[in-house]
Amino acid sequence: MTRGSSSAREVATWIVQTLREQGHVAYFAGGCVRDELLGLQPKDFDVATDARPEKIGSLFPRTAHVGAAFGVMLVRHQGVTVEVATFRADGTYTDRRRPDQVTFADELADARRRDFTVNALFLDPLKDISSADRVVDHVGGVADLGARVLRAVGDADQRLREDDLRALRAVRLSTRLGFTIEESTREAIRRHAGELSGISRERIGEEIRLMLAHETRARAISTLGALALDTPTFGRVARAVPGHSLAKLRIPKNPDCGLIAGTLAAVLMDREEDLLVEDSAAGEGRRLEVLRETRQALCLSNEERDDCLAILKLLSLLKREWEWAGEARRKRAAASRGFAWANELFRTVDASRAASVDRVVDELGRRHGGIRPEALVTGDDLVAAGLSPGPAFRTVLERVYDAQLEGRITEKAEGMMLARELFGSAGV
Ligand code: ATP
Ligand code: MG
Repeated sequence: MTRGSSSAREVATWIVQTLREQGHVAYFAGGCVRDELLGLQPKDFDVATDARPEKIGSLFPRTAHVGAAFGVMLVRHQGVTVEVATFRADGTYTDRRRPDQVTFADELADARRRDFTVNALFLDPLKDISSADRVVDHVGGVADLGARVLRAVGDADQRLREDDLRALRAVRLSTRLGFTIEESTREAIRRHAGELSGISRERIGEEIRLMLAHETRARAISTLGALALDTPTFGRVARAVPGHSLAKLRIPKNPDCGLIAGTLAAVLMDREEDLLVEDSAAGEGRRLEVLRETRQALCLSNEERDDCLAILKLLSLLKREWEWAGEARRKRAAASRGFAWANELFRTVDASRAASVDRVVDELGRRHGGIRPEALVTGDDLVAAGLSPGPAFRTVLERVYDAQLEGRITEKAEGMMLARELFGSAGV
């Protein structure tokens, strides 16, 4: 147990105790109870209580009122923030996401408004671990935890109709926990799957990021497909029979860009049949189109989109051009952002060629100053030598650097000579 998380539990316990001393009902609630009963480390601890937000605010001096209208307060103590929520019964849902109004209620109603039975348990942290009433279960969540089943609280059809996010949460939580989704819940998800329009693209993107960040990512993505959530999630119909790149994908030892970009590149490669087409201009066009749509569908950041594009482009290079590329081109590719991921993706389709790329890159690292040596000749050097900056400047510098990468020049003086020659020659 890490120090940070154990102290989060202590702070949450202290909050429960303080509320009890004031005559209130208070428990741990939601995901932390589920995880703790499964022997997993909860990532945060939430407290549910019958105390109203004003009372919570007066009992705990350092409280943020961000969600007070919904009965949620953030209590800060000893560097830890704990969400303390007043028991509530969410009202009717007309916008399919947020309840129209929040009514403060008792713990039973609070359990019933929650999405899945295993998420609707309360735990009394002040009770002894062997005590029978340590866990308060109004919805059959303990039995479902034992059977490893994810089941909607109440009428599955109604609960899935109220809030489309629950469909994605069901996929994420069931795959992460290794649970099966109970049949009527599953059917309700399928029935309402086309309606992800009820949630913002940011929320969809957040759920997908959480799925991709976890090692069960491949199962999560294939479960999305099995439950007809795939097209509404990604905003486009998959054009290929899902491949298995995501399932086989290894995380690079030295990832050169983010986990989301790398794993998403695998998802896209699995979903789209012609991202790596022969003709490089057509390939680039397809990749841009797919990334434009995926970016909208998942609300990707510019960096995530650019990294994903770079990885797919490098993958296309590895697949189509690596064998014929010269030393400078290979070094430039190996030095560029996304290469480590691209080769891991390549390994999922051609393990032996990817292993040979690894060997070549190792070897290149030992040749002529390595993959990414500092340039012997810079733009400043050219200016200092009286060469005037112009359109040819960049091309000359690139060619001189290529010559350095290939060991054709090893000193600055040689580089300057080459630069003058290139400036003098026609076409540059
Ligand atoms: P995680 O471990 O990923 O945080 P969690 O179940 O704790 O999973 P949270 O988003 O932290 O998820 O939500 C806390 C609790 O709030 C849930 O356990 C559940 O009881 C309730 N909840 C969250 N989202 C919904 C929803 N869309 N509909 C109904 N109840 C919800
Ligand atoms: Mg949580």
